[in-house]
Amino acid sequence: METKKLFGKPVAKHIKSEIDFKINQLFLKGITPGLAVIIVGDDAASKVYVKNKQRAFERMKCYSKVFKLDSTTRQKEVEKIISKLNVDQKFHGILVQLPLPSHLNTKRIIQMINPEKDVDGFHPENVGKLSIGIPLFVPCTPLGIIEMMKFYKIKVEGRHVVVIGRSDIVGKPIFSMLIQKMNYGNGTVTMCHSRTKKLSYHVKQADVIIAAVGVPNIITKDMIKKGADIIDVGINRVADNSERGYHLCGDVDFDSAIGIANTITPVPGGVGVMTITMLLYNTVLAASQA
Ligand code: NDP
Repeated sequence: METKKLFGKPVAKHIKSEIDFKINQLFLKGITPGLAVIIVGDDAASKVYVKNKQRAFERMKCYSKVFKLDSTTRQKEVEKIISKLNVDQKFHGILVQLPLPSHLNTKRIIQMINPEKDVDGFHPENVGKLSIGIPLFVPCTPLGIIEMMKFYKIKVEGRHVVVIGRSDIVGKPIFSMLIQKMNYGNGTVTMCHSRTKKLSYHVKQADVIIAAVGVPNIITKDMIKKGADIIDVGINRVADNSERGYHLCGDVDFDSAIGIANTITPVPGGVGVMTITMLLYNTVLAASQA
């Protein structure tokens, strides 16, 4: 069987052309979509993510401002900044870069964000809306997965989807979306996690595998049904002898899936490409609704 590789770039390009049209419509009304990013501390990976987000916004002529706070910033101070941003009309979206230092109460901080500016889709109100099928903002990675499945015509309705990983940012929201009685829902969805017994048995039943675990190559050849469609969300650093000292790989043993799966998203180059594009999408949506 020939396995088709599903790359994120063409999908992101397609979404950006839609966003571009909407941004120009907003410009005509004198509105520039704006995003406020709060980053606390010096986490190296977080800094890179924030820089990439800023660059993406600049490229699309959107406004973004980073509020860089010291790692010792107190809960009250972060909450005060969010309260101000909630009513600042320059910002249609507010994003708190996670993880936060351990002395901060992440859940409380997320709950402080105005749900209408919660472009990450993490506020309990937006989580609830998604779960009852009236989404406002959907978390960016699951939203990107759905856009990839639409673009490459990966069917969900009536098929058995197995999601591995139940995090609030990937596993749970993608589960919520795929079980809905709506377009790109109507799947029969099984959710697996670290306490799942016989993981390989469950995965082997899947018509569609969505792996969001964070364990390199945990999904092996013997777990994949012939003709399955695979969305690999995992981004794992594996140490090697290269100059960089590591390479990236997904949760699925990519090489061994070739020839068995119908389609697979590569890592890097697959789902990862979509996340920032969907952040732009959500911010433009927030600006249109403001
Ligand atoms: P989390 O660590 O929050 O969640 C991992 C999930 O995997 C948990 O539900 C955990 O179970 C489950 N799990 C861990 N070990 C096993 C195991 N041996 N068998 C079955 N399930 C297991 O991770 P995230 O959801 O944040 O991220 C997952 C991966 O996706 C990471 O590699 C991350 O880098 C990547 N990612 C990629 C993004 C992108 O833009 N493409 C965006 C976000 C994440 P339990 O709940 O029981 O602990």
